Amino acid sequence: MPPLSLEDSSVFKQMGQYGHQNIVFCNDEETGLKAIIAIHDTTLGPALGGTRMWTYKTETEALQDVLRLSRGMTYKAAITGLNLGGGKAVIIGDSRTDKTEAMMRRYGKFIKNLNGAFITAEDVGTSPKDMEYIRMETQYVTGVPETLGGSGDPSPVTAKGVYMGIKACVKELFGNDSLAGKSVAVQGIGHVGENLVHLLREENAKVYVSDIDEERLNTVAKKYGAEAVSHHNIFDLDVDIYAPCALGATVNTETIKQMKCAIIAGAANNQLADEEVHGKMLLEKGILYAPDYLINAGGLINCYSEIAGFSKKRTMQLAENIYEATRNVLQKSKTEKISTSEAANKIAEKRIEDIKKIKASF
Ligand code: NAD
Repeated sequence: MPPLSLEDSSVFKQMGQYGHQNIVFCNDEETGLKAIIAIHDTTLGPALGGTRMWTYKTETEALQDVLRLSRGMTYKAAITGLNLGGGKAVIIGDSRTDKTEAMMRRYGKFIKNLNGAFITAEDVGTSPKDMEYIRMETQYVTGVPETLGGSGDPSPVTAKGVYMGIKACVKELFGNDSLAGKSVAVQGIGHVGENLVHLLREENAKVYVSDIDEERLNTVAKKYGAEAVSHHNIFDLDVDIYAPCALGATVNTETIKQMKCAIIAGAANNQLADEEVHGKMLLEKGILYAPDYLINAGGLINCYSEIAGFSKKRTMQLAENIYEATRNVLQKSKTEKISTSEAANKIAEKRIEDIKKIKASF
């Protein structure tokens, strides 16, 4: 038989480009469920990733999103030292109008059929209540409410990881990791941001906060003794650390030119508008960037703890390990003169390759 020729847009071609193992398309006419589960790599353990519900304009857009996000989860689990693989799922639809209990339970049955190869959690467009519905059909779900044995709000764990990442960067630049007297601008003081401000102020850092929600801004600033600043001026501040905890892509060609900070370390996902271009720009400008997917891994750690049955104390210890992991990334970036994102990716890839070899030798 002649070799199969693949079009550029073919699913197999896209899977090959990213190195995916498995994709499951879930279709249920009765509930209107249209979902794609992508399992990227299970070398280190079962693929864990959130389920996103979004109004994708096309199936191609949904597929690209799930492929990109699931691959990211493999790297996140690997660099954090967790025994987890990478996966993600997307449900096509409007979470406000299309989502029903029946749909989520039907989706739970699809996850059940994967026999533990994929474990899910909440993401954009899904909630703890949805995880509860999935839990009615399968055990392979995390982020269920605490009353059902879940691990609860991940934000304090995420904030702890970000805080440890900041300390690792401070140690690199200033020789010790004390934050006393260091100035930090926290952009976005929602669930993670507020917990981070708390930790920073406990160590006597000088903290500036910004948020588009004026009321929240003033309340949080007053509560922790931080200085409220307009969200328009955050990049003009002459601070040691900029901690993005709101949106992605805030580190771009325009903002990098404005920045006076020495370190960028925060919770937001996809902080660099373009990982390669802006990673290099930061390296050239001498701004130390703590890779977001590493230092915001507390949410994943929280999910992992839920399936491993860990205590809150052990969960926090795992988040503290982000300090050492960040130190290793900074070291590699320095010795190999590569961006910190590239260094993090290389460390994650090496761990997966090493474990693959061990597995193959048994
Ligand atoms: P959140 O929605 O609770 O808080 C975000 C805050 O940012 C809100 O208060 C919002 O008003 C503010 N904001 C929005 N736009 C802003 C702007 N332009 N300038 C200043 N403030 C702005 O979200 P969260 O759970 O705290 O998560 C924060 C970020 O961290 C998100 O990007 C999220 O994806 C990422 N993250 C969160 C977790 C977690 O455990 N919650 C884990 C990993 C990554």
